[in-house]
Order: sequence, then C-alpha cells, then structure tokens
Amino acid sequence: MCAGVIDISMSRPKSKTKQPTVLVDGEVIRQIRQHARSFSKTEVCGVLIGSQEKNALAIEACIAGLNAAQAGTHVTFTQDTWEHIYKTKDREYPERRIVGWYHSHPGFGVFLSDHDTFIHKNFFSSPLQVAWVYDPHSDEEGCFGWVGERIERLSEIAVTDRKGGEGAGETGKPEPVGAADESEEEVRSSVNRESDAPAWLRWTTSILSYVLVMAIGFFVCWLLFPRPIIFFVNPFNRTAVQAPPGTHINSDGSISLPPMPELEAPRPEKPQRDVKPPTQESAPQAPPKTDSGKDPHAPRQ
Ligand SMILES: [Zn+2]
Repeated sequence: MCAGVIDISMSRPKSKTKQPTVLVDGEVIRQIRQHARSFSKTEVCGVLIGSQEKNALAIEACIAGLNAAQAGTHVTFTQDTWEHIYKTKDREYPERRIVGWYHSHPGFGVFLSDHDTFIHKNFFSSPLQVAWVYDPHSDEEGCFGWVGERIERLSEIAVTDRKGGEGAGETGKPEPVGAADESEEEVRSSVNRESDAPAWLRWTTSILSYVLVMAIGFFVCWLLFPRPIIFFVNPFNRTAVQAPPGTHINSDGSISLPPMPELEAPRPEKPQRDVKPPTQESAPQAPPKTDSGKDPHAPRQ
C-alpha cells in the first residue's frame, strides 16, 4: 500500500508531459450512459471506482450520485450524496478507491466548465483521478485528467471487456438472425414501398390526374359558355326556325348550310329567343322552299 502511494507521488512530476493511462470497463461506460439517458433534461453525476497503479488507473465500477442536487446545469455533490457514495463503496467495493467522477452534459457538449473544474480541483485532486463527461443527446463522451498541474482532456482511453477471453463458439446460443433479418426486411420493404415503387406510379398518377382535370374543365366550359345558335327568321310572319346542325357563320358574315336532304318544318311553339336579326345576306339565303311554300300569309303578287 505504501509503495503504491510513494509511486504515485513520485510519478507526479514525471507526468507533466505524459497523460495517465486510463483503462475503463465497458460495463461502466454502459452504466454511465444509462444513468444519463434516464435524465435527458438534467445533469446526473456519480463517482468512479477502481484502482491506481503508477501512471495508470483502471475504472472498474461506478456509483450513481442518487441524491446529487441538479440545480440547473450544475451538479453538486451534497453531503447526502457523499454519504450515499461512501456507504455504497464500503459495502460493495471495500478494496477499491474512488478514481474520479462522472457527470452528464445533456445537450451541451463535452467539456469541463469552471464549476466542473472547481469540483475536480477540490474533491478529485489526486493525480490519478479523472472526470468523465457524457452528453446523452450527442452520445459524445470524454475523459479529463491531470497532466502535471493542468487538467486535460485525455487523448487515449482503453476500454476493457470483462468477458474478454471467453471462448468463442462455446456459448451454445443460436445466431438470432431470423428476427433481426425479418424486422430489417420489413423496414426495408416499407421504405421501398414509400420511395422506390411509386417512382413510375407517381408519374402515371399525376399525368392521369392532370388529364382528368383538363377533361372536366373542357366539359364544364362546354356546359357553361354560350354557343351560337342560328335561327332563320321568316321576314313576313316573323316566325323563326333553328338552323340545322352544322350550320355556321363564315368570317365574312355569310352562312354556310350543311348538305341536307330535307329541312324540318318550323316549330311555332318554340319561343323566339336569341333571334338573329335578318341581314341582307341571310334573309334571302334562308331556306325559302319550305317556309314560303307553307306560309299562308305570303305576300300576294
Ligand atoms: Zn459539467
């Protein structure tokens, strides 16, 4: 024990330019992450338990600071926090030491604030004590330690696996590929359904919808907008007769009739509307045979 203490004190001047070697158990990292993620809005803190040797420290466990005051963005190790930590440490890790502390920075990155530096200088001033910071929003983490008189972010952290050395292929467990592949397949196919397949379908649908809208528009226009209806008026008795379908007014004002074998008789019951005033050209061209032949009021010669 004494030799260890002497080693550390002697190694301190030598470590002015050398960062301490940190070995951290992967299980500790997992527990810190879980603790921080369970409080995504407030900071959490705890201490790191492990062992120190020469210029190396091993982080083997952690104790969550359950009663730490989480005032705003600053964690504070209160008297209650320390009591809980020491009680847990004496019960579960009597042979281990407190090798540092951890706390979370939910959403504001990994660094040591002035307040954090104050805590580290006053409670974790031993050269082989470190500060672990984790941001549960970005999943970034960093470890800060003493390098001489300075606190630096350490550039190298070694993660150890407790199950390391376990024989591979001796677990007797089947590969859980089935469930994983199925869910991945479902995700992939659902993604495909949304993005890939409609590539051609989307175009076809949009084109068809445009065509449909245009067709409806033409139909509505045909229904609503006025179409010229040509009537021929008998100038003698003022009766009007609708021109046969296909009759149209030329640009020079003359009227072209469709080739028709017969023309219908006038329908007097039809109300006289939209009457086209007889013009010099149209009156003589009105179908004269039927009208004049049947007209009882034809002018006497
Ligand atoms: Zn902090």
